[in-house]
Parts: sequence; structure tokens; C-alpha cells
Amino acid sequence: AKDRGRNCYQFYTEGMQEREVARLELDKDLTHALAQDEFVLHFQPQLDLDNGEINGVEALIRWQHPRRGLLMPIDFIPLAEESGRITDIGRWVVLAACRQLARWKGTPLEHLRIAVNLSGRELDDPHLVDHIRDTLEINDVPARRLEIELTEEIFIQNIECNLSQLTRLRELGVHLAIDDFGVGYSSLGYLRDFPVDVLKIDRSFISNVTTRHDDAVITRAVINLAHNLGMQVVAEGVETEQQLNFLRSYRCNLVQGYLISKPVPAEALNQAMATGAEI
Ligand code: C2E
Ligand code: CA
Ligand code: CA
Ligand code: CA
Repeated sequence: AKDRGRNCYQFYTEGMQEREVARLELDKDLTHALAQDEFVLHFQPQLDLDNGEINGVEALIRWQHPRRGLLMPIDFIPLAEESGRITDIGRWVVLAACRQLARWKGTPLEHLRIAVNLSGRELDDPHLVDHIRDTLEINDVPARRLEIELTEEIFIQNIECNLSQLTRLRELGVHLAIDDFGVGYSSLGYLRDFPVDVLKIDRSFISNVTTRHDDAVITRAVINLAHNLGMQVVAEGVETEQQLNFLRSYRCNLVQGYLISKPVPAEALNQAMATGAEI
């Protein structure tokens, strides 16, 4: 039994070494990914429950890796945050979103807003706001077409710096959204202090909103809280008609999830919106 234990242990460390090697390799690949244009944005529509129209999309990054195929954010974003490469990736995301908005001019998609995800690490970049302003300007895109999604820790950590960055962004006319609301921190004081436009209810509440009393109560309370603070509410991860009906009956503003559409490449979105077909 002891031998077997040792073998297992050895196997485990080898596995760990392999993973570490794979991680280092991936991190090296990340340095070339931008230059070689390997990132793409996929877009997931947000359905406006007031008028039944798609009026915005969330941009979700993918990495078309030359050997490993299409990688999801979980495979490389945490790594990029550790190594600091996330700063350049974030700038690329903003640029790619603005270029897409520019390309949509004169098409049925020209009214769409794009929401991009930025992590706390990206806000540490003191030139981020200048970069966003310049990128909007160069692409001749109105700031209100762009929304920035931030998770709660941004409102809790490094408050002074983040507040000033976010206030400057808001002054440009960019919308600010709180992502994954309800899972991170219990403090609500930041809702008072930060200039936020949109609150996104995390999928973990929506998943059981029609089957669990607690989740239904929390979801209704969050919708009311947001509305009373003058914010719009987006429900994330909507997968069933029942969830959609629940959210509609409690006046949630927008819904996003596989029921409406998975995240899709720009071409698929263009086609679906042009023909009015299901995405
Ligand atoms: P998130 O911002 O909370 O994005 C929502 C995630 O849920 C996306 O996963 C989306 O594909 C998935 N999703 C959407 N609807 C449904 C649904 O109905 N059911 C289920 N089960 N899932 C749904 P994805 O694309 O893998 O992104 C994961 C996370 O990676 C994002 O979570 C975000 O935190 C991060 N991320 C994505 N793109 C970027 C980016 O450009 N920059 C940064 N910093 N982070 C990003
Ligand atoms: Ca998000
Ligand atoms: Ca989210
Ligand atoms: Ca998330």
C-alpha cells in the first residue's frame, strides 16, 4: 500500500510539472498572440424586455491558438492577469470593440451597444481612460455605444484610484456595469459612491430563480434595489422560458443567456440581425 501511495504521489507531481510546463508555454504563446492577431471577440446579444429588441451585446474574448484550437477565457485570462499581459489584451479588446462598432455603421446593427469586460488589473493602468477616449475618437464611435463591465472587487479594493478612473470614464459617456452582482461582496455602500448605470445579476441566482424561493426573493430584491437607484438590470445566464417570464414579470430590463443566443462571431450576428432570424 505504501508503494502504491508513493507511485500515486510521483504521478501527481509529474502531472503538476506537466501542468506547470504547459502553463509557462501558454504564457510564452500569449506574448505572440496579440502580434499574430489570434484573439477574437464573440458577441452575446442582450434582449430588451421593454421592446423585444436586441439593443446590446457583450463581447467575450476567445483565443484562436495555432495548435490548441479555440481557447476560452478561463484558459488564459487568469494567466494573463498574473503576468500582467492582461493590460495589452484589455486595450486590444477595447480597440476590437470600437472597430466593430465602426463597421456596423449603416447596417441594421448600428444602434447596438457593446459591453466589454475589464478586470481590476486593467484599471491599474493609469492610461486606460486616455486609451479608451482616443480609441473611440479615432474610430468615430460615440462613447455611449461602449459599456464597461466590472466585477465587485473593483468597487471594494483600491477605491480611490478606481473611483477616479471610473468617474473619468463615466464623464466620457461610457456606461458602467457591475458584473456578477451578488456573489462577491456583501457591502452595498459602493453603489452609493460609484457612478454605475447597469447591474448584472449573476447567473447563479438566475439558474434557480423559478425553482428556489430564496433565489427568487433575492432576484426580485436586486431588481428593485437597482431600479430605486436609477440603474438598469440585466439578468445573466437565462436558459429557460420560465426564467424569462419570471424576469419579465418583475420588470427586469434586459436578459442575456443561451435561451436568446450563445456568444457568436460577428459574422453570425450580422447575418442573424440582417435577416431577423433566430441567432
Ligand atoms: P462573464 O463576464 O460573467 O461572462 C459570462 C459567461 O457566461 C461567458 O463565458 C458566457 O459564454 C457564459 N454564458 C452566457 N450565457 C450563458 C447561459 O445561459 N448559460 C451558461 N451556462 N453560461 C452562459 P465565457 O465567454 O467563457 O467567459 C467567462 C469569463 O471570462 C467572463 O465571465 C469574464 O469574466 C471573462 N472574460 C471574457 N472575456 C473577457 C475579456 O475580454 N476581458 C476580461 N478581462 N475578461 C473576460
Ligand atoms: Ca461580463
Ligand atoms: Ca457575468
Ligand atoms: Ca463571471
